[in-house]
Amino acid sequence: ALGLTGWTAYSIYELRHPEEQFEPDPTKKTLVILGTGWGSVSLLKKLDTENYNVIVVSPRNYFLFTPLLPSCTTGLIEHRSIMEPIRNVLRQKKATVKFYEAEATKIDYEKRVVLISDDSEIKGDISHTEVPFDMLVIGVGAENATFGIPGVREHSCFLKEVTDAQNIRKRIMDCVETAMFKDQSEDEVKRLLHMVVVGGGPTGVEFAGELQDFFNDDLKKWIPEIKDNFHVTLVEALPNVLPMFSKQLIDYTESTFKEEEITIRTKTMVKKVTDKFIEAEVTNPDGSKSLETIPYGLLVWATGNAVRPVVRDLMSQLAAQKDSRRGLAVNEYLVVNGTENIWAVGDCAITNYAPTAQVAGQEGAFLARLFNTMAKTDTIEKELQALSHEQSLAKTDEDRNRVFDEIRERQKQLRRTKQMGPFQYSHQGSLAYIGKERAVADISWLSGNIASGGTLTYLFWRSAYLSMCFSSRNRVLVAVDWIKARLFGRDVSR
Ligand code: NAD
Repeated sequence: ALGLTGWTAYSIYELRHPEEQFEPDPTKKTLVILGTGWGSVSLLKKLDTENYNVIVVSPRNYFLFTPLLPSCTTGLIEHRSIMEPIRNVLRQKKATVKFYEAEATKIDYEKRVVLISDDSEIKGDISHTEVPFDMLVIGVGAENATFGIPGVREHSCFLKEVTDAQNIRKRIMDCVETAMFKDQSEDEVKRLLHMVVVGGGPTGVEFAGELQDFFNDDLKKWIPEIKDNFHVTLVEALPNVLPMFSKQLIDYTESTFKEEEITIRTKTMVKKVTDKFIEAEVTNPDGSKSLETIPYGLLVWATGNAVRPVVRDLMSQLAAQKDSRRGLAVNEYLVVNGTENIWAVGDCAITNYAPTAQVAGQEGAFLARLFNTMAKTDTIEKELQALSHEQSLAKTDEDRNRVFDEIRERQKQLRRTKQMGPFQYSHQGSLAYIGKERAVADISWLSGNIASGGTLTYLFWRSAYLSMCFSSRNRVLVAVDWIKARLFGRDVSR
């Protein structure tokens, strides 16, 4: 047992202190990967980094397991439990990978360079520079859609990044404590304790469910005075929530929300946001429209994705992108249309599939296979060149025949590696937690929908999410957070 422990300690030590230094190899192509989200990290995980000089650029030096981000808003899960340091991912690669914590501000296609900017609080002498590339993968994701609605950016919280979840967590408790302030009027208490979520997609639904759980499990026990006024409302412009799920699952979600006393306001489109209320256009049952003012304490804006400026700028440089609106149009090998050495993965790429973590992950893994294959092809082609040179120098028939056989063998290998088909997405299913220990799932391999509550679904949801966590370390941390919340309740300190 001691031997095993010693060996483990030694291998960890080995991993933490990679011997090799990063020296870009001039014989290899430089592959720059932008982003550390689902697409880029799944590419990195499977990429044979010995074939390229790999450089990763991202303003976030960690991978974030986004499916559990809604749980961070209530303190059920601590945010660090779902973060995996990118340095930890990179140090496990065979060849050293460079990482720059910076934002890519511009991709200059003509010059084949990415302009990067270090936006961290501590600045060195250089905070803006250029990174040249031979091959580029764009996996920068998307930003929050606001549709230019006035007041959204100033007054609402988004739910994309760790800082967003932290802001929401702080804001929930701020609203509660301010509502409890001495001599607060009843209307103001009601406003402060009104938690409004805009957008009935999975993000909005999961957050509303988590928030109501927080209230039921902990808040109302710890601060019983808020019991009658704390209220969650989900606002959606379309006639129903979760449009990507089947009618059965939508009905199940809506009836669960009703039991939980979460109000769903469908056919309600938010048009304006101020610091204390939202203005929405409501479509009445007779088809007429009316304007309504809804006061709120917390406003969470979850209306989907918009194109990031760096991606929009690249699109403007490429004639082939002029008809694309929602992101980078790519071909079936994920090559950005109008380029031959830029690929795009995840939410910044437009494919036939919804912009989900599952799609981005599979796209990243596909690119890793593609790049590994391309490197292999390059090697075989170089070997073929050398062999044909050897053949021309061969003096005897025996030599010529031997080289000829080798050439045939390499050509066969080359045909095999060149046969890699285009990207194909395999849908494993969708899963959304809806609160009250219930989840909705459409599991494609079971060719059916699971809409159920109770212990089994809850355990299924939890084990599915646990198994999808990035590392064993994340898995342990998340499980411990769940146990902690069960035993002691969530931490309601601000
Ligand atoms: P979404 O695009 O799925 O939903 C946004 C919703 O906001 C839409 O239903 C839209 O009608 C509504 N909306 C837009 N403007 C509005 C307005 N002014 N007023 C009221 N409602 C308005 O966004 P999302 O939930 O952030 O999801 C983004 C992507 O990520 C989707 O592809 C989704 O499937 C995926 N996702 C999946 C999961 C999961 O599978 N559990 C979880 C989160 C996100």
